Amino acid sequence: MDVKEAPGGIAVSLWLARVDVKIIHGQIMILEKLVVGPLASNCYIIGSETSRAGAVIDPGDDARQILAGINELELDIKYILLTHGHLDHTGALKEVKESTGASVAVHSADVKNLNDDYLSLFTGISYPKPPPPDRLLEDGDTIDIGDFSLTVVHTPGHSPGGICLLGGGILFSGDTLFNFGIGRADLPGGNSRQLMESIHKRLLKLPDEIKVYPGHGPDTTIGAERRSNPFLI
Ligand SMILES: [Zn+2]
Ligand SMILES: [Zn+2]
Repeated sequence: MDVKEAPGGIAVSLWLARVDVKIIHGQIMILEKLVVGPLASNCYIIGSETSRAGAVIDPGDDARQILAGINELELDIKYILLTHGHLDHTGALKEVKESTGASVAVHSADVKNLNDDYLSLFTGISYPKPPPPDRLLEDGDTIDIGDFSLTVVHTPGHSPGGICLLGGGILFSGDTLFNFGIGRADLPGGNSRQLMESIHKRLLKLPDEIKVYPGHGPDTTIGAERRSNPFLI
């Protein structure tokens, strides 16, 4: 594997086909992004190069594609992590859970959204009813995946139990923060004041260099969003 030393930093990224590989505290973290479903949701497969333990973040649709990605990366999926319960992030949850046996984790305030069919009306597509979650998350919780971990940052506003996941210089921001955009707050349970507070008080407090992988669209950094996101300046 072709891995470069970071110039003075802990993390370095390079692209191997679709796979972004980072060195985090001496461990190599695998990160693959798949764009799934009619709303072009980002599903991320992450894992440890050393322990082969992994997690799937937001299996929104296209279970077959997600399962093929997991197989290709030879990961043992421990968790399916949901940034929130909307259907465009959970459409393939049932199939991915059944195939991997992984634990499903979601913030307690978004369990209701898991069974909400509002978005299926919106997209015109219905999905199999998702299984109940195995673990309810709260702000500050740590999720251990092999030899690395992610911390839960509760960021309500797009949905009541919306979370971001932070670890190894990376933030998975769900539908809270996008590349030059922010989540919508007009869906049931949304609240625009809360959304702005979550972004300003929790996310923009993070260092500039934190890389942000959102629930839709391209990745970005906290610094780029702080400087140029038209919804935040
Ligand atoms: Zn959403
Ligand atoms: Zn979404």
